[in-house]
Amino acid sequence: MSATEHGSAAESFVFQKLKGYGIKDVRYERFPMVSWARGTVDLRVNDVPMQSAAMVYCPAHTDLTAEIADVGNGTSMDYGADFDKVRGKIALVYMGTLPDSPAGAIHLPRWEKLALAIGHGAVGVIFINWNAGNHLVTGIAGGSARAVTVPAVMVSQEDGLRLRERAIRERHVRATIRMENRVTEGFARNVIATVPGVARPDETIVLGGHLDSLDLATGAFDNGTGAMWVLDVARAFAVHKYKPSRTVQFIFFMGEEEGLLGSYAHVRRSAQDGSLRQVRFMINTDMSVNPRGLHVWGGDPDLPFFESVAANIRKLYPSFKGVSTESAAMSQSSDSQPYIERGVPIADLESQWPEGLLPCVHAECDTLHWVNADALRDSAAVGAMLVAALADAPASAAHVFDESETQAYYEAQGIVPTYRGPAPPETASNVK
Ligand SMILES: [Zn+2]
Repeated sequence: MSATEHGSAAESFVFQKLKGYGIKDVRYERFPMVSWARGTVDLRVNDVPMQSAAMVYCPAHTDLTAEIADVGNGTSMDYGADFDKVRGKIALVYMGTLPDSPAGAIHLPRWEKLALAIGHGAVGVIFINWNAGNHLVTGIAGGSARAVTVPAVMVSQEDGLRLRERAIRERHVRATIRMENRVTEGFARNVIATVPGVARPDETIVLGGHLDSLDLATGAFDNGTGAMWVLDVARAFAVHKYKPSRTVQFIFFMGEEEGLLGSYAHVRRSAQDGSLRQVRFMINTDMSVNPRGLHVWGGDPDLPFFESVAANIRKLYPSFKGVSTESAAMSQSSDSQPYIERGVPIADLESQWPEGLLPCVHAECDTLHWVNADALRDSAAVGAMLVAALADAPASAAHVFDESETQAYYEAQGIVPTYRGPAPPETASNVK
């Protein structure tokens, strides 16, 4: 997890590896963020303990008892005209969309549901996991990299749905939430390795992925898989003494799980010093493993070029599909987002995940047993071919959008950029 001892160890690990490959320009890019460490949590329903996990960024100290109020999926539709439904109470909110939801129920991210509950006067929130299997998952409780004022806990889907039935049937079901967490000012560091281009050094291809994870999980899959193939492409390039035509930058972002903090800090800083103008393409890896095809979106990509890259990859992997361009929504929740907001075109590998993985994302069962060496090696091989093709393409493989083109692109895709990153906490002087 970012801004912790473990996070710092992960940063040093990739830094040393990159240096060890013989890459000369490897640096840390430090940015401030809240350091949050899970302490104890105790949830009781009418005095009977229930297993729970605190959401990341919950307050340092909580000792609270209040009545539970069920608000279904916790969207504005669920509150309706009843503005006092959860006032002074602990809101019980399903994390996804309940099967008995009315038609047209929309999906909202967790932090928006939390903000709605707080806006309606809730003093606490119990989230019900949307995945079955008695799992506890975590995630940020706030969307703005700040500790939230109201405690939020996650319970398993099984416990949660039983509690929901009870809260609807009986009146005055009360919950007590007690928790202690450590919340301090801290920092994390992106790790950036730059291999200068021999022919077009002022044009840059970025290969990035987040190195951090959340604390309940080991993060082996999210995003150990993505981060490690970025590292392995760097290794392969070094082993083969490959000299790219354009500059290639390998970036390991931190703070992704807390709201894309590292990538926003980096992109904002690069915009300030002018280096963002040189970025022609960004490849993002977030659980991108076991590649099956290419996703390209944003900017105005040269599709025949990408089809020819896919055809080359197919020589090694006959089942590799072509290029798909319908992934704009993907840019909304990973480190590609700050780039796409600045008009930079994005690619990712279309990935085949192991069956049964999804309930384990951000959960305690995201461990090494999901990681398959062959799938990782294939990602590194395909990723290396894609990066090299972009770095050596005779013409730019895509046109970078200006501000108005970016705006038009968002509108054409029907995407409302709801989350544009945290208010800038950093100035040029404290980002190092
Ligand atoms: Zn991720």
